[in-house]
Amino acid sequence: MRASRLSPAGNAQYTLPLVNWTFPNESMVLGENGVAFATDAQQVILFNVADGTVNWMWQPASGQARLGVSLEANRLMVRVVDYVQQSEDIVSIDNAGLATLTSLSGQSLQLAPGDVAYSLGSTSQKKAPAVRWGESTWPEASGGQIRAAENFITVRVYSISEAHVDPVFVRSRVNEAIFYWLLMARIHLKWDQVIQPEPRCQNLPGRPCNVNSKEDLFNINLDGVPELVRRFLKPTGIDIVFTEAITGIFVGPIHINARAATVPGKNLIAIGEQAEEDVLTHEFGHVLGLPHVPNYLPPTFPDSDDYYNLMCGSVGALDVIVLCSSPPGPNLNESQIRDARRGARRLL
Ligand SMILES: [Zn+2]
Repeated sequence: MRASRLSPAGNAQYTLPLVNWTFPNESMVLGENGVAFATDAQQVILFNVADGTVNWMWQPASGQARLGVSLEANRLMVRVVDYVQQSEDIVSIDNAGLATLTSLSGQSLQLAPGDVAYSLGSTSQKKAPAVRWGESTWPEASGGQIRAAENFITVRVYSISEAHVDPVFVRSRVNEAIFYWLLMARIHLKWDQVIQPEPRCQNLPGRPCNVNSKEDLFNINLDGVPELVRRFLKPTGIDIVFTEAITGIFVGPIHINARAATVPGKNLIAIGEQAEEDVLTHEFGHVLGLPHVPNYLPPTFPDSDDYYNLMCGSVGALDVIVLCSSPPGPNLNESQIRDARRGARRLL
């Protein structure tokens, strides 16, 4: 089968050892670092998209192969459908072309980005252990759409030295937030694990910083926002400043609960060392453009995504009675996921 690659560097044409695209939607998936997977239902290949060089070929013992999703490190999930045996299996193939049968099997298997899911008939669904997605996963492998690989949003972390915030605490909070948004919304955030120390006060030419002034970032309230913005705001990515405490009431669309604050409309978060688990994850939601949702604790419908919602909080200036779970709940609804993904593009 002939393939053409059109790119800014020019066009390339080569022949792949495949017969045809038997199932167009499940025949080609991008991998990482310039490779792609392809199948004609009989053979699965990994090839270099620049010149068509085939790295490996794999063939199921019986049945037809249909490509599912590529995972990090160029692993591939393949559906193997055997009409004779009336079976469907999911096979995982590693970077070297070594295939492993997964424990997922049954009829009407479906692969869902974010998690690997399968259904038995059409009524029940079960999730396999969550998958950590790679740097250039194909967002909708079987959705009939071709999209580019997704870029990372860079996260930068600072810690006000005088506050002596435990670096173990900082790492666990930041990593839990990054992992949450990856799993829930497939938003790829990258942090190099560096915690940049920063002084509480920074002297400016002709203006020495005084402790307990509005330029002091040890204990931040509304007055400290301009200095926070001046020192840390960047055009892209997300910046997080850990310090002793966030206090006072911020007005307007700002979020504050004496634990953390997101500067409204900005990709900048300040967080105190007393912040509970998931508070930073909630603040990421604001940076991604999500407002609060009114959401109450009693689990009348405990499976609903609107209970224990991550973005629970006061809505409107007069809505002071909000019964949110503490720490924030784990749920997001579909429109929140869509909005957050849209918001994420602004941070690239
Ligand atoms: Zn909030």
